[in-house]
Parts: sequence; C-alpha cells; structure tokens
Amino acid sequence: MSENNNGVWQPYEGGFLKKCPECFMQFHGRKNQIYCCPKCKARRNNDLAAERKIERDGHTATLLRNISILKKVFSESAKDIVEVSKSRLVYEGFEKEGLYTLFTMAGEQWFKVGDYAYRPIDGTDLIEIQKLV
Ligand SMILES: [Zn+2]
Repeated sequence: MSENNNGVWQPYEGGFLKKCPECFMQFHGRKNQIYCCPKCKARRNNDLAAERKIERDGHTATLLRNISILKKVFSESAKDIVEVSKSRLVYEGFEKEGLYTLFTMAGEQWFKVGDYAYRPIDGTDLIEIQKLV
C-alpha cells in the first residue's frame, strides 16, 4: 500500500484497498475515501478539534499571563512610560512569542498586549511599557 493512503485498486472487491488512519483496519473504499466509516471520520475530526482547542487555550493563557505581567511591572511606578529590563520581564514569566498586535506610534513600532504597549529600546536591554487606555 502506498504511503499517501491512495490505496491499491482491488478489481474483485470493486474498491481500493486502504488502511483507516484512525482504527488501522484495512477496508475497501472509494479512491478518495480516507476513513473506514463515518464513526472513525467523526472521531478523528473530534480529536483534531480538541487539539485545536488546547492550542487556543494555551495561546489565551500566555496572553493573559503577559498582560498581568505588564500590568504588574507598569503599576510599580507612577510614571506614564515605564522602563524595565528584558531579563526582568523574562524572570516574571513574560513570553515574547505570546499573542500581540503591532502598531506604530510616534514613528516607533510597538507591541500591543491587552491594554498595554511595549517596545524594546534599540541598543539597550530595556523595554518601554505604557498603558493605552
Ligand atoms: Zn476506521
């Protein structure tokens, strides 16, 4: 059987010999049929949806954690723009791979995370943070 599960034509069976990627049973099916039965197809689709939900929840958790870290660091100072070292943010658990929106303000590119915006200051180890609302 080929790797792509296209199957081998079985003239006596009137279908292609295939292997279901869900239950690993061999079956005879149409050329474009992937699963042996609707139950296996539904099971696989449910598994994929569950995996996507876990991934989405992970992104949301990281985003919420990053927002709360920016909020914490920002509120430690009475300034409108707070400077903090990158290592401090990392120490707090900030993940720069978390979700953000890029935007330009006063000619500088900022990362928007929740109600906060931050940007690395070129040539330094510092991050500027400000609250947007
Ligand atoms: Zn199956």
